[in-house]
Amino acid sequence: MPYGSKTPKQFESDLDHLLKHLNPIGLDTLYDCISNKKVIPENAFIITFDDGLRQVYENAMPILLRKGVPAIFFINTSVIDNQDLLFRYKSSLIVEQVLSFQKSGKSLDAAMAVLKQNNATFDGNIVFAVMKISYKQSTILDSLASVLDLSWVDYLAKEKPYMTGAQLQDLKAKGFYLGGHTVHHPELWKLSNEEAVSETYRSAKFMMDTYGLPFSSFAFPFTDVQIKNQFFEGVQQAGGIDLMFGSQKLKKDIQPNTLQRFDGDNSLIEMDVYIKALLAFQWVNKLRGKTIFTRS
Ligand SMILES: [Zn+2]
Repeated sequence: MPYGSKTPKQFESDLDHLLKHLNPIGLDTLYDCISNKKVIPENAFIITFDDGLRQVYENAMPILLRKGVPAIFFINTSVIDNQDLLFRYKSSLIVEQVLSFQKSGKSLDAAMAVLKQNNATFDGNIVFAVMKISYKQSTILDSLASVLDLSWVDYLAKEKPYMTGAQLQDLKAKGFYLGGHTVHHPELWKLSNEEAVSETYRSAKFMMDTYGLPFSSFAFPFTDVQIKNQFFEGVQQAGGIDLMFGSQKLKKDIQPNTLQRFDGDNSLIEMDVYIKALLAFQWVNKLRGKTIFTRS
């Protein structure tokens, strides 16, 4: 989400800091290392962007291009060409609208009624209740939009929050990498294994087939902390994904083709400070013998 994200200036300064100490590698190099069991070059880093936001294409991509830094863009396939809004994006827009209604003294009774109808434990805290709505309940968000004068169609047409297929083609032509990030950005751990595998595999396969990619890759939406080995078996049975990326920071994954990442997009923390903190944390984990991320 764009909230609390870094400005292009902050991003460029982070990138300069990384380039001072580390060497960027492409996804093909990483794939070659993983699939052929080679050692990943020392001090290598790889930048990834999730959710396929237009702002990233417009603001971050030119900086990456200018500095010659490769990057991967993980895309939710349902929102390419602004055909839909991801459910958490809808939640954020509803919260914004609720706050603006509160500010201007407009009635929120209709929104309250929708929430009461769908949530037996609703206690009157609209913002909290909206942020708790899961992907599976996302029709509630659509009902809320209609009583709060919000139109997703109008928003998509006016704001165009996501990249178009043509922009994705352009990224590929410029040498960037593309991968899947599920179809709809659901909380995978709240779905049945079959649904979770389908959301995952379909997105990676769609990106590979549509953009003519030599191998498939995927990044977990939200977190992969509750993703079980059974899920990886399901993906393998569906046809497999060559490289997967989780969010367990510096830990090593028990799954052989899964790598972990850390989130560098907090506008309040500079990259060098954050990396130092992560390395200190890693050192503590090493002492505790907890550098491997295991799954049940
Ligand atoms: Zn995401």
